[in-house]
Amino acid sequence: MNLFPVNHPLLKRFDRWAGPALAALAVGLLLLETTRPLRRRTRPRAERWRRNVLLAAPSLPAMRLTLLPAMVGLTRLAAPRRVAQLAARLPQAPRLVLEVLLLDYLAYTWHRLLHSPALWRLHRVHHSDLDMDLTTGWRFHFGEMLASIPYRAGLPALLGVRPATALGYEAVFEAFTAFQHANWRLPIALERRLAPWLMTPRLHGVHHSMVEHETHSNFGVVLMAWDWLHRTRRLDVPQQTITIGVPAYPDPAAQTVAQLLVLPLAPSRPWARPDGSVPAPDPALRALGELAE
Ligand SMILES: [Zn+2]
Repeated sequence: MNLFPVNHPLLKRFDRWAGPALAALAVGLLLLETTRPLRRRTRPRAERWRRNVLLAAPSLPAMRLTLLPAMVGLTRLAAPRRVAQLAARLPQAPRLVLEVLLLDYLAYTWHRLLHSPALWRLHRVHHSDLDMDLTTGWRFHFGEMLASIPYRAGLPALLGVRPATALGYEAVFEAFTAFQHANWRLPIALERRLAPWLMTPRLHGVHHSMVEHETHSNFGVVLMAWDWLHRTRRLDVPQQTITIGVPAYPDPAAQTVAQLLVLPLAPSRPWARPDGSVPAPDPALRALGELAE
């Protein structure tokens, strides 16, 4: 039984449609970041881009060869018969809606798990970027991608999600990952309208703050409903007050590609700067609000 059918027709369709669409989106976001930046950069762009692209170089092919095929192949292990029968009895439209909601909820809960001590070792490679832009959305350790396979491909298969839905949602997941990391200043009135429903660049900026309780907020990938339900939503942090990164890793010289690749092997550090100080929000600035009413 081939659990990783890399040449399955559904994957070829993903390559044909999602590949070019995501590439076009990336070009558009790069242009918008240049013309309408949201946060001021603290590091030279070339330094971070080179590192982030090199770090993504093993992760992206690994995703195409393992996670995406697993979304098709693991369905061959079959959902428990009761679940499969129940899913098959549902009409098409409600089944699709339920599948997409389930996939987005699993994306939210997986992201919360990535912030647990064991998986933070992998996820901190992503969060330690000292600025956030589109390339941060590519900066994931390949180990994090491999670790996600049982949860993000296995669980949906077990719960009766069809592979076509899983791959279709994956394209949307990748598009939102690019969108929310982009350093793009959307018109504030528009972002205020979007923020209650969808993950936006300002909301995800809060998630990359050096203030600990702000990092542990806004975990959603597409829908904000899960953050709202679990009370992890934060709307009240103006972007100009945010310092991006993880306080224990402030040194750009210690973020070479080789160092980032072996970072998951290093023990975790406390949530503090090397001098022991803990980043805290300035209550006066926070009181300004931004996306909150
Ligand atoms: Zn995170």
